[in-house]
Amino acid sequence: MASIFTKIINGDILCHKILEDDRYLAFLDINPIRPGHTLAITKREIDYIFDLEDNLLSGLMLFSKEVGIAIKKATRCQRVGVVVAGYEVPHTHVHLIPTNGMSDFSFALAQQADQAELTVMVTKIQEHL
Ligand code: AMP
Repeated sequence: MASIFTKIINGDILCHKILEDDRYLAFLDINPIRPGHTLAITKREIDYIFDLEDNLLSGLMLFSKEVGIAIKKATRCQRVGVVVAGYEVPHTHVHLIPTNGMSDFSFALAQQADQAELTVMVTKIQEHL
């Protein structure tokens, strides 16, 4: 069965899209740890990040960098944290999380986002791409 992220890529589930190219997609996490929490995913559905071929993996990092730079400017955070977990969705994705300290890295802080706030955040981040 297709992962929820493949359904997003195929347009079967809506997302708050930030950036897309032929191999990658970035969109806001619906349960952000911090406002601006973004997921950068591969369009190919591969569960574990280190199963990606080198070219696809390095491209994902460069795509994440481009998005992460824009997130940092948009949110004025100190650092964009980069986390790979994958325990909930078995489809490679990089969490890009605006942080101002180590305590911001807790996934226990995740809260369902307000849809209107996500819409505003997409625009804010895209202004810096
Ligand atoms: P993990 O697999 O543990 O690295 O985390 C998966 C992440 O995907 C979680 O932070 C979820 O909030 C997020 N997520 C799950 N479904 C969606 C969705 N439809 N749109 C945006 N984010 C999602």
